[in-house]
Amino acid sequence: MPTRGLVVKDVASDSIAAELGVERGDTVLQINGTDIKDIIDYKFYSADENLQVLLQKNDGERWLLEIEKDFDESLGIDFRGDGIGRTRRCRNKCVFCFVDQMPARMRPSLYVKDDDYRLSFAQGNFITLTNAGTAELERIAGMRLSPLYVSIHTVNPALRQKIMGHPGAGRIMEQLNFLARAGIEMHTQAVLCPGLNDGAELERTIRELGSLWPAVRSLAVVPVGLTAHRRGLHHLRPYRQEEARTVVKQVQHRQKEFISRYGYPLVFAGDEFYLTAGIPVPPAARYGGFPQTENGVGLVRLFKDQWSKVRRKLPRAAAKPVRVAVVTGLLAGPLLRQVADELNRIGQVEVLPYVLKNNFFGHNVTVAGLLTGQDLINGLTGHELGEKVLIPSVMLREGDATFLDDVTVDEISRRLGTPVVPVGGPADLVREMVL
Ligand code: SF4
Repeated sequence: MPTRGLVVKDVASDSIAAELGVERGDTVLQINGTDIKDIIDYKFYSADENLQVLLQKNDGERWLLEIEKDFDESLGIDFRGDGIGRTRRCRNKCVFCFVDQMPARMRPSLYVKDDDYRLSFAQGNFITLTNAGTAELERIAGMRLSPLYVSIHTVNPALRQKIMGHPGAGRIMEQLNFLARAGIEMHTQAVLCPGLNDGAELERTIRELGSLWPAVRSLAVVPVGLTAHRRGLHHLRPYRQEEARTVVKQVQHRQKEFISRYGYPLVFAGDEFYLTAGIPVPPAARYGGFPQTENGVGLVRLFKDQWSKVRRKLPRAAAKPVRVAVVTGLLAGPLLRQVADELNRIGQVEVLPYVLKNNFFGHNVTVAGLLTGQDLINGLTGHELGEKVLIPSVMLREGDATFLDDVTVDEISRRLGTPVVPVGGPADLVREMVL
């Protein structure tokens, strides 16, 4: 008996599926006799040149479609939902889990702890592999689900078990070795906590992961994020400047070794470490193609490089007076002020920089991406804002005009009486100012 399959959301016109009469609401049950459990199965099995697709029509009738096509040619079907079905949940109790530090009464999706290799492959979510047994690893290998994004934190088995609160967490190197032998590429991360997995432990993590190059493509070293809502959790504190300097130097030292050995830096310190340490971020070449910008690695360098291109083309004076507010979090405050100073040298331009504290998650959370709508309302109400308020687009949920606390851009614009406009970087910023 086939499993429930995937329900068709849309069929592209002029596609193979449209020609064969596949319609919205139909269900793809099997391909070449194999049950289609999720989008991963579908992508893998539908790549073949000769297919027999078992389809259940809306009225319950079953059709067997015989298809001949080019290898990898799409059938033109889009499925409902994310095509994953029920997501595998995380069984860990990480000492630094951000979900456990969320304030109460936020939207339910923010409390979801997924740990699903399919989402890692399909969307780049970090997974831990603590819930991946032989069957899952073999499926990853057999279907070549590559690259994957894996949270390592430490390769020391006992320490990883302690940090992640899971007895199976100590098998990580065994699992990575298996995946590396199967040709799976992995981007990895280590969330560092002062005195817990840094120093000699970080040294070991970098060394052992580095030995798996080129299967391990990158290691991002990022500092633990601590909110003001930690209740009854393991005692942790943020990195101090001197400690952040030590981490950056350690990473830079290992980068040099990897560059001479592999021609690639492989390990990267997150922007937050550089900014906390007060050490300038390295040149773009040291970011090896920026494999982990989503993890806050290299965004400052990208911003600076874009700004140096944009500033060369700035006019001496604007065609008409421009007055705007520009917002960021504490961490990027100095960078924003520097940009505002330069823009304010242009005739008829006034940029008002606002560097806001995060009252929602607490003052230890300093990145712009975690500022909420409420922080903006509190921080900007009653201040001079000019014609519009420009905010970094990373403050919003992807593809959405909503902040983490569900406040919308429109709502803030209304409350402030000034349009709020998200910008993606310096080029966008200058465009919005019509310079
Ligand atoms: S893996 Fe750890 S940090 Fe991630 S959701 Fe689970 S408990 Fe939280």
